[in-house]
Formats: sequence, C-alpha cells, structure tokens
Amino acid sequence: MLIRKYYKPVSVSDEEQQLYEAVAAEAAKLQAPVYLVGGHVRDKLLQRESKDIDFTVVGDGPQLAEAVGKRLGVSVVTYKNFGTARLQYHDFIVEFVGARRESYRPASRKPEVQAGTLMDDLARRDFTINALAISLNADDYGMVLDAFDGLGDLERRLLRTPLDPDITFADDPLRMLRAARFAAQLDFTPLVEVRQAMRNNAERIRIVSVERITDELNKMLMAPKPSIAFDLLFKTGLLQEVLPELALLYGVEHIEGKGHKDNFYHTLQVLDQVARRSDHLWLRWAALLHDVGKYDTKRFEKGKGWTFHGHEVVGARKVEAIFRRLHLPLNEPLKFVQKMVLLHLRPIALSKEEVTDSAMRRLLFDAGNDLEDLLILCESDITSKNEKKVKKYLENFQLVRRKLAEVEERDRIRNWQPPVSGEVIMKTFGKPPGREIGIIKEAIREAILEGKINNTFEDAYAFMLQKAAELGWEPVTKN
Ligand code: ATP
Ligand code: MG
Repeated sequence: MLIRKYYKPVSVSDEEQQLYEAVAAEAAKLQAPVYLVGGHVRDKLLQRESKDIDFTVVGDGPQLAEAVGKRLGVSVVTYKNFGTARLQYHDFIVEFVGARRESYRPASRKPEVQAGTLMDDLARRDFTINALAISLNADDYGMVLDAFDGLGDLERRLLRTPLDPDITFADDPLRMLRAARFAAQLDFTPLVEVRQAMRNNAERIRIVSVERITDELNKMLMAPKPSIAFDLLFKTGLLQEVLPELALLYGVEHIEGKGHKDNFYHTLQVLDQVARRSDHLWLRWAALLHDVGKYDTKRFEKGKGWTFHGHEVVGARKVEAIFRRLHLPLNEPLKFVQKMVLLHLRPIALSKEEVTDSAMRRLLFDAGNDLEDLLILCESDITSKNEKKVKKYLENFQLVRRKLAEVEERDRIRNWQPPVSGEVIMKTFGKPPGREIGIIKEAIREAILEGKINNTFEDAYAFMLQKAAELGWEPVTKN
C-alpha cells in the first residue's frame, strides 16, 4: 500500500525549484500525475549531492518532457524504443519515463515492459531506499510516497529489496553488485536475507553484460571505503565470478609453523588506505590488483619461509588480462596500473640503510610523473597488526620521500630528457640513425643514473666523444 508521509523538508536550489514548477504545471495540463523517483529522492533525503533527476509519469514520459523542454527553453532527446526522454537544465540531467510494469521470463534476460501504475513502477526497483517517490501533484505536492518502508530503511541504514530478494536478484543479477556498491557508497548494511539471496544467485551474474559489471566495480572503487563492497562480494561468492584472481588471494597457509599474510584482506586494507589518500580511480585499481601475482608465485623455501618472488612481474601481466576481460581502457589507464604494480616494491626497498643515490635516480627515472601516485600506493602497502611496526615503517618512508626529493632537486631526473640528443650525436659524427646511436644514448643515460657523470650537456658531450672513440668514430665537425 502506498503511504503518504510528510518528511523533513529537503533543500532545493533555485534551478531545481524552477524545474519542479515547470514539470508540475505541464503535468497538470496533461492530467498526468508525475513523481520524483529513484536515486535522486534517496540522495536528497540523505543530503547527498545528486545531479541526475528521474521523473516517473503515469502517462506519456516523452510527451511531458517535450512540454517541459519548451517551457524551459531547452532541447529534449527522446529514446523512442525505451519510451524515455532526457533534457539538461543547468547542470541537472533530467529523465522522464512512463510508469511501467516489468515481467521477467526465465528464458530471456530482458523483461517484458508494459505501462503500469506508480505502485508497479516502484515495486520493480532494486532496493526500498530507491523505491521512494515525491509527488509533484496538486493534491499531495511535496509528500513522500513510501510503499515499502524505504524511509525506515533510510533511517536504519539498511538495504532491503521491495519484493522477495531471490526473485529480485534472479530477474536482474546486476542488482547484487548494486547492493555491494550501495553498501560501500552509503555505508548501508544489506539484510541477512539480502546477503543470502546474493549467495544463492551469485552464478547468475554471468548473464549480465561486462560493461554493466565494470561500471559498478568502478563505483565501488570510488566509495569512501571500498573494502566494504569487495568483502561483501567475496563473502557472497560474487567476487569469485567477477574477479576470481583476487578471490584466490584469500587464505593463509602454514608450513613448519610459519604462516604468511592473508593477501586478500591485506589488499583490501591497502585499497582503503589508498582511498583515504587519493581519489584517482586508476590508482585505486592499482591498489586492488597490486598483489594479484602472489597466488602464482607463492613458495615455501626451507629455512627462509614464504616468498612471492617476481609477483610484481606476474601481477602486471595479469592486470592486462583482467583489463581485457572487463573491457577497461587498454591505453593510458592500463599502462598506468601495470606500471604501479610493477614498481610497487621499489620505494620501500629504498628505506633500507645504505641506499645509493643511483638507486634513487633509477626510481625517479622509472616512475617519472607518476612518482607521487607510486609513493601513495607504497605507503598504503604498509600494513601490520603490530602498530609500533607500522609507525616505524611509516617514519622510514618519510625519510625515503625526503631523500627522493633531495636527489630530484639536485639531479632533475623525473622528467629526464637526454642532455645530448640523438640528433646531436648523428650530426657530430655524420652518421645516419641506427642501432649504434641508440647504444651511445643509452650509455649516456646509464652514466648519469649511475652518477658517473653529471646530468649536464658538457659532461654528456665529453662522455659521448669518449664512447664514440671506443667505436672508432671521429667527429666530422669540431665545435
Ligand atoms: P547512481 O545514479 O549513483 O548510479 P541510482 O540509484 O540513481 O544510483 P540509476 O542507475 O541512476 O541508479 O537508477 C535510478 C533508479 O532506477 C534507481 O534508484 C532505482 O530505483 C532504479 N534502478 C536502476 N537500476 C536498477 C536495476 N538494475 N534494478 C532495479 N531498479 C533499478
Ligand atoms: Mg541516478
């Protein structure tokens, strides 16, 4: 039963007010009841920012959108196949759709859609907190319509489905990922029945398109505490479906009384620590995947204990396979995540005493402009149950940061450009481009990184002459 409730008034900007008035006036003319619905209502009541506004019309959505567009002087895009229409007003993306009823047939992924009542429309939604409506109609303007005690769940911070969760998730399995995402994004708790239904239906996630899945994974990663989502996915068996490589990191093995860290929960801790320090999506992906190579490289070495030699190299390879499977971008983002995974052990290695400046220069060179992100990842990778140890490691890490800054200040390696270019080498010796030019260039770079010569034109030029002499080359012009 739809229950009308007064709720604490929500704050509305001038632009929103103008939009609501236009929608209410045009809907009244068309005699089509209209409601604010879905995520926008939820976010308003939670006082979260939201720029997507959805209206459900008991009637023709596109027709109302056209009338509102005209009144506000903005253009409308109509998607005839879906019976929806969209317009932009200031920075709000506004969508209109007719109230609908959906019925799912087990044989088909797509529901059959028919026009329905407001109640039908709210009942097909995923969670009670997303099934609230606010009326824009004269007789109950501004009241919240609550059919499933969504308001109560907002107060209690619970995720509950309007109908039987097993049916809700079987109908559209993406809803299970949305549950994990809302759990992390809003810090809400799914009911036990909801978690059980996720477990029951986990395998059905296979019928969902990879783009929809990846979209949700990205949103989980951008949550304030992403581990909430990934822990829930793991405990319900969904992670084993969508990111099995990560699920394999779970567990601790003991041999000769020696155990190793649980690399799954370690990863989640690193991810949360990165999330506290940075909102860079791809750095968060790097945190999620930084140890994926540990499953394949785990060994027990007698007298030494557990090792994961080369896990950064194996991990970087796995990152590519995962990016391909999830249709994540294969250009800069993939390169960045691979670079982070490959280099993630390097800064911590510099906290040992006796570290040479050349090791510092090599890291500055290899990390380049991504140095700060790498340092954030590496600092976040410090986890231990022993708080004293963590404190000590973090202090050592500050030392690494300072030393790196000093070396960079002096040697300018981060955006290193060869002080003597290939063109200069070719001109000096009258040689065409070729392998030998590359050899000389590389020798100059190595000499600078090793600290044998300074990072200056004079030093590099003299060094070039010397190297070329070893090849039996003579300068064609003296200068
Ligand atoms: P966000 O905009 O942050 O992704 P949202 O809840 O607003 O979150 P949208 O995709 O914008 O999600 O959808 C708007 C509303 O449509 C939701 O609040 C919900 O009521 C409904 N909805 C969206 N996706 C589903 C789904 N897969 N199953 C059932 N209802 C859904
Ligand atoms: Mg939305």
